[in-house]
Amino acid sequence: MSIQIFGLPVSRGVAIGRAVLIASSRVDVPHVFIDPSLIDEEIVRLLTARDVVADEFETLKHDLPPDAPAELAALLDVHQMLLQDEALIGAAADWIRQRHYNAEWAVSAQLEVLARQFDEMEDAYIRERKADLEQVVERLLRSLSRGLPSAVPDPSRAGARDFGGDEPLVLVAGDIAPADMLSFKRSVFTGFVTDVGGKTSHTAIVARSMDIPAVVGARQASHLIRQDDCIIIDGDAGLVIVDPSPIVLEEYRFRQRQSELERGRLARLRHTPAVTLDGERVELLANIEMPEDGPVALEAGAVGVGLFRSEFLFMNRGGDLPDEEEQYEAYRSAVDAMKGLPVTIRTVDIGADKPLEGLSSSELRHESVLNPALGLRAIRWSLSEPSMFRRQLRALLRAAVHGPVKILIPMLASQNEIRQTMENIAHVRRQLTESGKPFGDVQLGAMIEVPAAALTLPMFLRYFDFVSIGTNDLIQYTLAIDRADEAVAHLYDPWHPAVLHLISTTIAQARAAGRGVSVCGEMAGDPAFTELLLAMGLRSFSMHPSQIASVKQRVLRADTRRLAPLVDAVIQSEEPEVTCGELFASLGTPQHADRLARAQQLPTFHQAQ
Ligand code: PEP
Ligand code: MG
Repeated sequence: MSIQIFGLPVSRGVAIGRAVLIASSRVDVPHVFIDPSLIDEEIVRLLTARDVVADEFETLKHDLPPDAPAELAALLDVHQMLLQDEALIGAAADWIRQRHYNAEWAVSAQLEVLARQFDEMEDAYIRERKADLEQVVERLLRSLSRGLPSAVPDPSRAGARDFGGDEPLVLVAGDIAPADMLSFKRSVFTGFVTDVGGKTSHTAIVARSMDIPAVVGARQASHLIRQDDCIIIDGDAGLVIVDPSPIVLEEYRFRQRQSELERGRLARLRHTPAVTLDGERVELLANIEMPEDGPVALEAGAVGVGLFRSEFLFMNRGGDLPDEEEQYEAYRSAVDAMKGLPVTIRTVDIGADKPLEGLSSSELRHESVLNPALGLRAIRWSLSEPSMFRRQLRALLRAAVHGPVKILIPMLASQNEIRQTMENIAHVRRQLTESGKPFGDVQLGAMIEVPAAALTLPMFLRYFDFVSIGTNDLIQYTLAIDRADEAVAHLYDPWHPAVLHLISTTIAQARAAGRGVSVCGEMAGDPAFTELLLAMGLRSFSMHPSQIASVKQRVLRADTRRLAPLVDAVIQSEEPEVTCGELFASLGTPQHADRLARAQQLPTFHQAQ
């Protein structure tokens, strides 16, 4: 029977495919597509892990004290039986063979299938065996993690769909950490759904950067959807349809074709300069996560990188941080990829919903337990780990020899942090000079994403060459709404007058001081805000490459001379979204003069007569 699940739309479009379920597990499960040539090796890994666990059970049984209850030995027999059952190991080997999953993923995928079968059993005794199965699988996963890791996937196969047939695959999970999301980037998935998450959680942001339809906060999705179910993801409506009827499927296939046509039309704007009707040049920049995203940004028509989230270089490496050379190479390759266009690299923004696995810092562990969004994250963490911070700064300054680099500092709130940041930069400049390593000039920027920074902007403008407004966090901290929590997602409101007020004064003050100002949060890539931000005076927007064309379309149709006078009416309105819709939609219509006058609270032409 077809079911519908509602969540939050985070990335537009329609995906139709077979569900690949990523189960949440007590043990960390790496999800890797292995190279087809290594299937046999991976199956041997699986069988070896099984044999190791079988030996463990034998030892346990052998070591049972003579007075141990008889049930204990019987239980170990049950575990042995489950372990040797073809329904577990044989089927897991099939996942490896057919889908090219690594062994850990294959075992946990099969656990998911079997667990559901147990849940449906009439017999309570058999139903309870699910817990035993989970324990056996946990042992298997631990044994796999102690053995050799899977062969690394072949990057040249990225995007290939040569397993499990030709049908597209969509990812379904309880939650996906941003780091895991990154490893799925440019993989085979054509859409994804998670139970948790908000629209601007980092998982959603990476999904958006993958430019595939996605829905988050779909609560029970990972429980209601089964491996291999046919599902539709409607990324515009935030809807997931499981097992759709043929009519619904046909309707969505039609919409899928329409949206592909629309994308094709928009793509033609790629190399058109972003200039408004009244001749204002607008800079449309790209947000990227890895240096390899550079060519994608160029292809989308970006005129530079406005935000390179460097923390993604620090992920998926078991807590081992990249050294100066490795970082230098990564930044340099981003600079090279952008062929002389400016590259704005943000220093690490670790913490909150972007934890680093296996970090030794006790303080970081402490903050992740308490209130991560308010804890030791971003520049606070960098300043607490000066050698790490200086390593990154040195690598950035050295990369600046190869092209225009701007350094952006996240989450600054106070003068003390600004001062320490400047001292660190001065220190590494001295170090580089002394060691004779060449380094380049950089512009320094501050992210404005804490209300305290927006409210003390003149101080920031004294120290920095430019500011970049991180609306994702600015909204979170202004409204006290956790951006990653789907339970309060309905209260996460970019249209809140307080948020608009902070954005607008930041833009106005930065411009008045002759400093660069851009927006690099998700609002910059949402066409619903393009006119309003232009009206506020913004001329630099940074977003996922996939959003550039839609925003450019809005820019090309905008007339900033007519938009600017409407800003106050929107900000002062109790319902800015409605007011904005009414005022901006009317531009160019016969009612335009009346509306404009009303917005400015001037008598209209008719009243004056
Ligand atoms: C922001 O907060 O708006 C931003 C761009 O940074 P991030 O989303 O990485 O926190
Ligand atoms: Mg931020």
